[in-house]
Amino acid sequence: MFLGSGVMAYQNIEEICSIAELASLFERSGSIREFLQTSVSVIAYHMRAAVCSIYLYDEQRQRLVLRANQGLESAMVGKIELRPGEGIVGTAFREMRTLRVARARESSYYKPVPGSGEERYEAFLAVPIMLGTERVGVLVVQDPQADYFTPNDARALKAIAAQLAGTMDNARLLMNMGREEILRAPASAARPVAPVIQGEVAVPGIASGRTFTPRKPYESLLAGYADADWPSRPEDFERALATTEQEIKKLQRELEEKASDVASMIFSAHLMILKDDAFSGAMRQLITAGMPPHKAIVEVINKYVRLFSGSTNPHLREKTQDVKDLGHRLLSSLRGADAQTHGYEDHLIVATDLLPSDIMRFAAQGAGGLILSGSGSTSHVAILARSLGLPTLLLDEAVVQRVPEDTPVILDANQGNLYISPSAEIMERYGELLAAQQEMRTGEEVPGGPVRTADGVEIRVMANINLISELQPSLRLGADGVGLYRSEFPFIVRNDFPPEEEQYRIYRKILSEMQGREVLFRTLDIGGDKMLSYFPHVTEANPFLGLRAIRFSLHHKGIFSEQIRAMLRAGHGFDLKIMFPLVSSVDDYLQAAGVVRECLETLRHEGIEHNAAPKLGVMVELPSAVGVIEELAREADFISIGTNDLVQYMLAVDRTNRLIRDMYQCSHPAILRAIRRIADAAARESTPLSLCGDAAADPVLIPFFVGAGLRTFSVAPYSVPMVRRAIQNLDSCPAREHAEKLLGMGRLEHVNAELSRFAAASGGVTPPSLQG
Ligand code: PEP
Ligand code: MG
Repeated sequence: MFLGSGVMAYQNIEEICSIAELASLFERSGSIREFLQTSVSVIAYHMRAAVCSIYLYDEQRQRLVLRANQGLESAMVGKIELRPGEGIVGTAFREMRTLRVARARESSYYKPVPGSGEERYEAFLAVPIMLGTERVGVLVVQDPQADYFTPNDARALKAIAAQLAGTMDNARLLMNMGREEILRAPASAARPVAPVIQGEVAVPGIASGRTFTPRKPYESLLAGYADADWPSRPEDFERALATTEQEIKKLQRELEEKASDVASMIFSAHLMILKDDAFSGAMRQLITAGMPPHKAIVEVINKYVRLFSGSTNPHLREKTQDVKDLGHRLLSSLRGADAQTHGYEDHLIVATDLLPSDIMRFAAQGAGGLILSGSGSTSHVAILARSLGLPTLLLDEAVVQRVPEDTPVILDANQGNLYISPSAEIMERYGELLAAQQEMRTGEEVPGGPVRTADGVEIRVMANINLISELQPSLRLGADGVGLYRSEFPFIVRNDFPPEEEQYRIYRKILSEMQGREVLFRTLDIGGDKMLSYFPHVTEANPFLGLRAIRFSLHHKGIFSEQIRAMLRAGHGFDLKIMFPLVSSVDDYLQAAGVVRECLETLRHEGIEHNAAPKLGVMVELPSAVGVIEELAREADFISIGTNDLVQYMLAVDRTNRLIRDMYQCSHPAILRAIRRIADAAARESTPLSLCGDAAADPVLIPFFVGAGLRTFSVAPYSVPMVRRAIQNLDSCPAREHAEKLLGMGRLEHVNAELSRFAAASGGVTPPSLQG
């Protein structure tokens, strides 16, 4: 037997692949380090190699870091760092190929690491660990005997790397996330991130503050403070605990006053955790045993964070941020910081995944803006941020992860720029802009009522409302009613279903506050990117093509009927309009209308006051609805075009996917022609028509819409004044010619050129989306 001469020391590749069982070791290991260490031991054993190492890539620092090793000096783990392209390991990584080297020292790639003891090893085999196209790291075996590894060994090691890639990637992300340097580095430490980052604007506006990154481990809040800065007596802890409880209760009360539609119990989990003896009691115990209060807080918070974030129950995972909120408040309060900063005042939230309820809580606790990834500007997270007036910038996920923690930034979500640690000069310039923004937000007042084009055509500009707190601002900004009430927002922000009675109060409030102006209620649009965390739902491979909107309602008739009853009751004494989202056929519409009829019947039977003659409408958001628009226009009492979805479904471009955001174009000839067809069908049947997607607020498209025959628009409240101005400056005759010209064009390029030409000729500004 030549066990030491490169002969395969195992039967076949399948056998070695059974090392994939290693992955299951992950669950059994006490820590990631333990898992990686066991992996190198087992691989070295199976490969009969003297040395086995795992290098994992740290994207932020662009270094391959030795994370586990058997055979070299153990002290080198975590110390050896290589640049991509550096040495044999770095080269295998950069070039994504296996390197099998007979005599390492003779290789042109060789770069010895002093102190590692690797000079003793001649044979070198390095295979990149890849997860899809993602580079995770490098798996290495070494042996003292030259030319020890065979091509079969290389194949076997590649198979192992492939099997372990997913688990290694998780390990890498977690280890990089928890890097000591990140946790302890002072806020001002230089980071490999550009001083100005460009992103996509989701909600315009300006904000300044320090970054807060919910996903980061908890110790980060201790950064910048010495142990001596923290009060150390048990009474100090008790005071912080009491203050935190009072603050949370106050927040809950204030929110219920300002936003009764979404406030219900939104801080209930916070209060429950605070009261839990295993939480505050555990902190007390540690303090009694001699641990300083700040350390006891962090210790217990981290335990809970680990517990919640590692849970398989999504409901529990969502509580992770609640625990961090508490930690943040307890520590701020312990430190005796100004009560104004116990929440997220002066903070901008940096996150890759936020739930609507998280956004609501951050907003309620004073956060100034959001820096997010993973959503498009028409995603519902962005729509909620807009309703809350939180300037929001969207960045690629990898970039979001590199935005440094607890660092001063200026978010210019008008220009799409994020300034990291801005200079005094930039701070001063933006200070003035912030003051002007504040004045405009609170001061601008626009008279309401219909608006006319320059040549006298009457147009209505209404508001899209998601939260009842937007009603008064929309009136102040000149909205002529509510063209779209997204009724699902109370459902997705809260922790439970709003009962019929509560829904009734919300809908009644909207009608009352609008004082007789038109209101279009839309029934629940759940599904897609809007999930109810508290409602057991099946996992769908394609939620946007699944049980969404009217399909969800027709599938859950109990929930649907409750909502319809609440709307019918609220509509008593008012004109009532109810529309159904994502209708795909006349049959869908008739089925939904049937549920309304049944509800009318039971309310009459029960003798409960209600609106007995509601008008029922269809949202046209699907190509199939456009295909039967003539029949829909005949059947329905009114129609509203939802371009956000119409573009998504006609062009097959996920509205939340930033990778393909350039393809998400409302100016696509197919969309323009569909809109014209809808407008013609509505005109023929004299069916009232409006347009409520975000495109209605695009000044470059407004002339086309008016030219194509649209007379009612519904836009986000803060866009109302701008849309009114755009209409007042428009002449309907050239707009009609412009629309005809566009409808004759089959190419996007030509359409965009004509849109630019018309905008420039009318003195408008070409938006970035149409430039070059
Ligand atoms: C739309 O799809 O255009 C629309 C207004 O509805 P939502 O954005 O809520 O899907
Ligand atoms: Mg829609």
